[in-house]
Amino acid sequence: MPKISRRNFMKFTAASVAAAALADKETVQATTLAGEKAFPLMTAGAATALGLCHFCSVGCGLEVKVKDGKIISTEGLPDHPINEGALCPKGRSMKELTNSEERLTHPLVRKPGSDKWEPISWEEALDTIANKVKEVREDTFVETDNIDGEDVTVNRLDGIFSLGSAEIDNEEAYLYTKFNRALGVHNYSHQAEI
Ligand code: SF4
Repeated sequence: MPKISRRNFMKFTAASVAAAALADKETVQATTLAGEKAFPLMTAGAATALGLCHFCSVGCGLEVKVKDGKIISTEGLPDHPINEGALCPKGRSMKELTNSEERLTHPLVRKPGSDKWEPISWEEALDTIANKVKEVREDTFVETDNIDGEDVTVNRLDGIFSLGSAEIDNEEAYLYTKFNRALGVHNYSHQAEI
């Protein structure tokens, strides 16, 4: 191994420190340049809300980013025990439920004999449905039935089948069941059961 004098050792050390300092300076400059050129994160400054995807009965956890009152991103919630951060394409695109220009925002009706759907108001749609339910209930409600030769009070509505939606949550499903039972509907189910 070549010998190095004390003087040369000091020179070599000083040069190494200077080179290291220069390298650091270049690194800092490169980082700064990269920072200036880098695009800001789409989610920068966005608020985070947690939720559940209700497209299907799996119930994946969602991290929803909201900016200026608009949903800008839906990601899987990493801590959620069901999906552990993953989402299928339906959950991933959930923001389109509120943002899409194709979103239907009013009821449509296709009148008897018509070949096209027409927009109607919510009031008209609700009145139409309520009147139809009342009409069918009055026509098909069964108060008593003969079971094993004995007339028994049954109070059931045979003329309506009701199908709940995978888009409703637990509380809404509870209300849906109560509403059906209050009417006497006994033929009802939920999308998740199918
Ligand atoms: S992300 Fe996909 S799998 Fe998960 S609940 Fe939504 S639709 Fe179902």
